[in-house]
Amino acid sequence: MYIKRSLSKELEIYSGVHFPCTDFTKTSHRYEVVVGIGGNVGDVRRRFEHLYFWIQRDKRVALLKTSLILKNPPFGYVEQEDFFNSIIVLKTSMQPKEFLAYLMRLEKKFRRKRSFANAPRTLDLDIIFFENRVIKTEKLTIPHVHWSQRESVVIPLAGLHK
Ligand code: ADP
Ligand code: MG
Repeated sequence: MYIKRSLSKELEIYSGVHFPCTDFTKTSHRYEVVVGIGGNVGDVRRRFEHLYFWIQRDKRVALLKTSLILKNPPFGYVEQEDFFNSIIVLKTSMQPKEFLAYLMRLEKKFRRKRSFANAPRTLDLDIIFFENRVIKTEKLTIPHVHWSQRESVVIPLAGLHK
């Protein structure tokens, strides 16, 4: 299903049918958004595939591109499974706040019902870029904080050619 390559002792990349891929469907949605996706509970790559189909069916967003999948060790709270991370580029006509709420509803849909503080995640969806906007509110920071220092963002992003 996936082709696996090791980048280093700790980092592996996976490519499959829909990660990476490019979608050529035309859309009239206005804003281009880069979304970081990640998780470390259960079969994360399978969940990414489900998310791909879910997004593809949803008229409120138009999928443009996905990146390869990076497997990388957790940081901060290190006593947990490695993470899988990828990037989805899409278009939407939603405004940033509305789009964040949309992503949080999607997370809920893909998340286990019972969760504990600091619990590992089934699916984390973060807005990395929203067009070229800069936003700093209590609930939303765009571009995403520390995105440029995170291998989980930079490596999948680097493989996305325009
Ligand atoms: P993490 O920081 O590990 O992604 P969560 O997914 O639990 O943690 O998100 C915590 C909060 O981060 C969300 O409730 C949201 O309001 C806030 N947030 C701020 N900026 C962003 C962004 N660019 N994308 C997604 N969430 C964001
Ligand atoms: Mg998040």
